[in-house]
Amino acid sequence: MPFWPWLLRIFAAFLLDPEKIIKWAICILLIPVALLVLLFAGPVVAYERIPLAKPSQVQLYVEAAREVSESTRTACDEKGLTVDWQPLLAIDAVLLRQDFSLASKWRAVNLARRFVEQTGTRTCIVGYDRHGKPIEKTVPVYRLRNLDEVLDELRLDAGQRAKVADYLTLDLNLLRDVGPGVPPGWLPVEKSFRWPVPGVYFVTSGFGPRIDPVEGIDGFHTGIDIGASMGTPVVAAADGLVTTAGWAGNYGQAVFIRHNNNLETRYCHLSGIAARRGQEVNAGEVIGYVGSTGKSTGPHLHFEIRRGNRPTNPVDYY
Ligand SMILES: [Zn+2]
Repeated sequence: MPFWPWLLRIFAAFLLDPEKIIKWAICILLIPVALLVLLFAGPVVAYERIPLAKPSQVQLYVEAAREVSESTRTACDEKGLTVDWQPLLAIDAVLLRQDFSLASKWRAVNLARRFVEQTGTRTCIVGYDRHGKPIEKTVPVYRLRNLDEVLDELRLDAGQRAKVADYLTLDLNLLRDVGPGVPPGWLPVEKSFRWPVPGVYFVTSGFGPRIDPVEGIDGFHTGIDIGASMGTPVVAAADGLVTTAGWAGNYGQAVFIRHNNNLETRYCHLSGIAARRGQEVNAGEVIGYVGSTGKSTGPHLHFEIRRGNRPTNPVDYY
């Protein structure tokens, strides 16, 4: 059978079926649209309202800013300049298109250096020799450049500048490892909750984003860590029903207590448990002892307060 009658038949089928023609027309029209979407989806998706850096990546910028700031200290200016790390992070969020896997200390330091300019030198007296003659030293004089000067130098366009400004409307500290989360010497004020380790108020790791101490990766700390020695009694923070008393995976030996108002407290990494599942406990009652079971680097109590199963910051309750 020759080729052309077959082709003709297909055309005829199309002509006789207008619905098919419309379908094909739509398909053909959609191809350029799909290509355009693919072309622009990348940059659009990459743009978020906050820099997508993990705590360990944020730390690169914090350290770079500190290093460069320290390098501006001289014999004539002991304080030196203070380079802010937040603009560095905001600029790199734009330059790296949010791909902070490309961030490095070296890159962050180079960026931080752009904020410092040597404007000249000065000579100052740094001491006196044994004849009472002043000892002079000539050192560089630095000036802190403002954000616009740096953005000009980096040749950022208007859209990129708007993004940098947008990122800087936030306090980027929220992306950092929270550390202890309380100031040194902080003391809890007991309101509706008792402090779970009476007499020990040393919070070693706070609630929020942090660098995992065991894995060294970035994570979210769902409670607070209270540094206490092995065997220190742990008490129920409030009256409630024990729902878990035993091994609980990464939590190690743990006690979970359900309270009123959809609240739950969790006491983890215990060395010993002094409560059983289904038991009603009173606030202040000993339920276990500080340990280092499960995913833990040393004796401490990992303490959580959950509201409707969502971890909340326990410090907010004291
Ligand atoms: Zn913890």
